[in-house]
Amino acid sequence: MTTTPSLTELMTNPSCMEDYDPNAMSVTQAKRYIQQYLHTVSGHEVLSIHDSLGRVIASEVVSPCNVPNHNNSAMDGYAFLHADGAKPLKIVGTAFAGKPYNGAVSAGECVRIMTGGVVPAGTDTIVMQERVITNGDQLNITELPKLGANIRLAGEDLKSGQTVLAFGHIIKPADLGLLASLGVPNVNVYRRLKVAFFSTGDELVGVGKPLAEGQIYDSNRYTLYGMLQRLGVEISDLGAIPDNPQLLEQALLTAAAEHDAVITSGGVSVGEADHMKALLAKHGDVLFWKINMKPGRPLAYGKIHTGNHSAHYFGLPGNPVATMVTFYQFVRDALLQIMGATVKPFPCFQVICTEPIKKAQGRTEFQRGLLYEVEGGWRVKPLPNQSSGVLSSMSQANCFIVLCEDIGQLNAGETVNVQLFEGII
Ligand code: AMP
Ligand code: MG
Repeated sequence: MTTTPSLTELMTNPSCMEDYDPNAMSVTQAKRYIQQYLHTVSGHEVLSIHDSLGRVIASEVVSPCNVPNHNNSAMDGYAFLHADGAKPLKIVGTAFAGKPYNGAVSAGECVRIMTGGVVPAGTDTIVMQERVITNGDQLNITELPKLGANIRLAGEDLKSGQTVLAFGHIIKPADLGLLASLGVPNVNVYRRLKVAFFSTGDELVGVGKPLAEGQIYDSNRYTLYGMLQRLGVEISDLGAIPDNPQLLEQALLTAAAEHDAVITSGGVSVGEADHMKALLAKHGDVLFWKINMKPGRPLAYGKIHTGNHSAHYFGLPGNPVATMVTFYQFVRDALLQIMGATVKPFPCFQVICTEPIKKAQGRTEFQRGLLYEVEGGWRVKPLPNQSSGVLSSMSQANCFIVLCEDIGQLNAGETVNVQLFEGII
């Protein structure tokens, strides 16, 4: 097994790893390299069920009881002993949900029972009320169900001692109910991750201010905010910093000192962002990569050191779509891993693409696509403008069409892989 080289080793001697070429990294390689430098945060906290949505389980939850606790009825009907079912039966009482029938049920007797009612001792089957005829306290079953029918067995949902939520599970709405169904009021979760971000560029202006010639509004600040918000991390928005070494250094150090991770957008393309590159070299170990992907070719990953604290650093390209795509492909999974979450690959589906696709072989493309319904299924088509600066393509699309490195031009009618935005975004 090869040992992971340190970030410094990779920076100073790229040939120390056979498959490592910072100027031609595949998406999978880049993900794998980043993954090697990630560690789960160590802090936990105990939260009430109410406050735990989206948080990551740090101590596995084991069921303290059976769910359901008792055999109970799945129907409104009558509880009886199956062996007696062919004969007329005497109704001797009623079992409601939460109000059991406490008497014993003898041969030739039955009990009226409501959904959720505890199955009385001496009975083993429930007949639904639509399959009987009653006359006073007399019951005749018109259609005998199978032995054990319509009974929800104790422990059928969860058994006492069973692991219910494993380490690394991200708590979803169903889990809140699940915890409540066990009577568990609190969960131990990893602490929230602190993430700072800022945009870089002299041309950037914040919303609410007029644009001078050549200026643009800083949109990455808002997409990053939204994407981080969805991950449930604690966010520090440090705004847009001009291409000024002192201001950039100040922002970088503030961000690194107080956060687990720092994300910047813009200024990582080779040859143009001397300030960022020099600052990152001064304060950390940061790798600059050219990824074989579109959009999002330049990417920087590493660690920034302040005192005895190190923060993860992700330098994303400035083009608005490239910022989003690189966030989803690299940063999202990395942050989840640091948060303690068990990271699973995004589900990919194969769908027929109804339009031809232009694509260069040798790089992975994440084209913005529109999945639409036709009779008997779904089809996809790429949006017309796939430029990495056209943010409206991300807003209008509902999926990525993921085209691997070895794929070239595609004709209409060919099958492509899609990743649904729903669930990722
Ligand atoms: P850069 O990666 O800094 O070379 O920027 C690439 C392109 O993205 C340039 O056209 C920038 O003007 C644009 N860009 C950079 N940062 C932002 C941002 N925060 N919001 C919108 N566009 C940006
Ligand atoms: Mg720039």
